[in-house]
Amino acid sequence: MINAKCKKCRRANQKLFLKGDRCSTPKCAMIKKPYAPGLHGKKRKKALSEYGSQLAEKQKLRRIYGIGEKQLRKYFKEASKSRGIATDILLRILESRIDNVVFRVGIAESRAKARQIVSHGHILLNGRKVDIPSIILKKGDSLEIKKSSLLKPIFKGLENKFKKQDLPNWLSLENKKISVLSLPENRETDAPVDLQMIIEFYSR
Ligand code: SF4
Repeated sequence: MINAKCKKCRRANQKLFLKGDRCSTPKCAMIKKPYAPGLHGKKRKKALSEYGSQLAEKQKLRRIYGIGEKQLRKYFKEASKSRGIATDILLRILESRIDNVVFRVGIAESRAKARQIVSHGHILLNGRKVDIPSIILKKGDSLEIKKSSLLKPIFKGLENKFKKQDLPNWLSLENKKISVLSLPENRETDAPVDLQMIIEFYSR
């Protein structure tokens, strides 16, 4: 599993930052092996068709947020039915997931680790234990780490982790308590994806 995440970046030909701190070091596989995995990975690739580019973009989004095809399609349906710009709404849904917020505030160094923290029940949502990483947060919600969990090694150096992370302006952090001040706006993401292409892919 160690290289599985890096293979996703190499396949996308782009850093997707799936492994936390390691991604910003020379150990990153996109520095050591900046070509597609497999026997023919170094061969120059043919240009992708429009469909192929849209598909690749959609896969990239799925890998970054660590979500399944069924779930992403469900989010797309929700976004396209809502009033407003579909790309903005799709992004808002993805960014408002509880696992994403745990990652964005710096509690976990990757979204995969954030998902694990939530599913192991270390997070309280509005004071109640939750274990579903796909919960969508709303304005006014608050998150805390369960007191007994704070002693666990995964939460060591929490203050430094918080300091390292740029807090999105729709979240606030005080005394280790995270509050959702508003819903995230378009482009408030670290994901290097073209959302319009993904909307076009699903609209076919
Ligand atoms: Fe691996 Fe992170 Fe580099 Fe991607 S960005 S190849 S996940 S180390």
